[in-house]
Amino acid sequence: MQKGEKLYEGKAKMIFATEDPDLVWVEYKDDATAFNGKKKGSIEDKGRYNNQISAILFNLLEEKGVPTHFKGLIGAREMLVKKVDIVLVEVVVRNIIAGSLAKRTGLEEGVILSEPVLEFYYKSDELDDPFINDDHIKMLKLATEEQVKDIKKLAFKINDILLGFMREKGLDLVDFKLEFGLFHGNVILGDEISPDTCRLWDTDTHQKLDKDRFRRDMGDVEDAYQEVLRRISE
Ligand code: UDP
Repeated sequence: MQKGEKLYEGKAKMIFATEDPDLVWVEYKDDATAFNGKKKGSIEDKGRYNNQISAILFNLLEEKGVPTHFKGLIGAREMLVKKVDIVLVEVVVRNIIAGSLAKRTGLEEGVILSEPVLEFYYKSDELDDPFINDDHIKMLKLATEEQVKDIKKLAFKINDILLGFMREKGLDLVDFKLEFGLFHGNVILGDEISPDTCRLWDTDTHQKLDKDRFRRDMGDVEDAYQEVLRRISE
């Protein structure tokens, strides 16, 4: 597969065309941003870790019947994926209170939810990714009602699979963000699943092994990403 022209460069990844119009080449960067780009930095080898972590998790989800954009790894920091029309909705699933849910509800970080909570955010840098609901998605024509139904069902299924998998690795899956895309009219999982997009805490020590170490200047950021890859590779 040949790497063609650059189609897009985002905060964490670059997308290149390939000779197949249905496939794109994704290169994961070491650049790190938080608070919608207001905090900038870089995490050594993050691109490599996130590429490989995402590949393992996409493979796991595919095995369990979740359609994803993943086609295969092509390099240490590169993967081949199906070219999708991204749905402009960020889907967050939560199992434990943290981050913006703690702020919004006044509940303390670490409180375990009796059932997972699903949230939608409008994927818009100008608007700072505001919180939205199903009616807003319909109003803004971001997805059809049928697509929203598919997205919710897939997001909860993904949560079930990842929760169990991470638990076996001694990790608590606190929350995570997903993005979905349309491929030949069908909803499939896109983007990445990595410590950039998930909160992962060590089950025993509650140590944070995710991007919160960068957001909150906690240090040992690279080690945390490397540790997640090490555990899920076993
Ligand atoms: N998240 C993400 N990208 C975003 C916002 C959130 O990947 O633009 C992830 C984040 O890493 C966490 C989950 O979604 O795992 C929930 O994030 P939250 O709403 O608490 O916001 P945050 O505190 O991360 O800004």
